[in-house]
Amino acid sequence: MRVSTLPTIFGEKVVIRVLDIHSVSNHLADLGFEDHQLNAFVSMIEKPHGIVLLTGPTGSGKTSTMYGALTRLNQENVNIITVEDPVEYQLDGINQIQVNPKVNLTFASGLRSILRQDPDIIMVGEIRDEDTANMAVRASITGHLVLSTLHTNDSIGAIDRLINIGVERFLVGTSLNGVVAQRLVRTICKDCVVSKEPAEREKEIFAKYNLKIEQVKRGKGCPTCNQTGYKAELPSMKSLI
Ligand SMILES: [Zn+2]
Repeated sequence: MRVSTLPTIFGEKVVIRVLDIHSVSNHLADLGFEDHQLNAFVSMIEKPHGIVLLTGPTGSGKTSTMYGALTRLNQENVNIITVEDPVEYQLDGINQIQVNPKVNLTFASGLRSILRQDPDIIMVGEIRDEDTANMAVRASITGHLVLSTLHTNDSIGAIDRLINIGVERFLVGTSLNGVVAQRLVRTICKDCVVSKEPAEREKEIFAKYNLKIEQVKRGKGCPTCNQTGYKAELPSMKSLI
């Protein structure tokens, strides 16, 4: 669990993030990509060098996608090193470093050390300063594949962000393999799913794309989903092994 506490005027406020290895699949195929999206993403991460960025709000699953990518690329003869804040899940066969500001082990200094370790693939938890950004870009144009995340709301915003942080424009063009912008989508609870007539608004949305819909599915609420109608489907254990 990742626990954060904050002293408020009425007492301590606690936020606990449960990092449950069983609720996470490290397989890209389980993450909800459409086929064409998965193909596009795989072609970005299977290039021998360049930088691949994942964007989206906090909690949109960027880390899961990154771990999925690393799991796919993980082979005995491939040297993969990560620098993360914090290391959320341990991955077999991958060298993971945890940021520790107390001893000045930051994304930037970690990345500098990693580059002396002759890596093939580098994962940097997040790019948020000029030093890290420039090192990541330099690494990606000198024969390394670099995966990282950026806090932007859409994919095109990543380009502006890199330039604003201080990366030279021409280097952005040379280094960037691609950018993914992602969101989590709620899935309907299997235990209370019902088919219903679509609402007028839903018909209009589909009509824009020349599609007619007869029925839509909704969760009507049950104890399984805490009456919300939505429940995340856990990946099968088989896919974790
Ligand atoms: Zn339900």
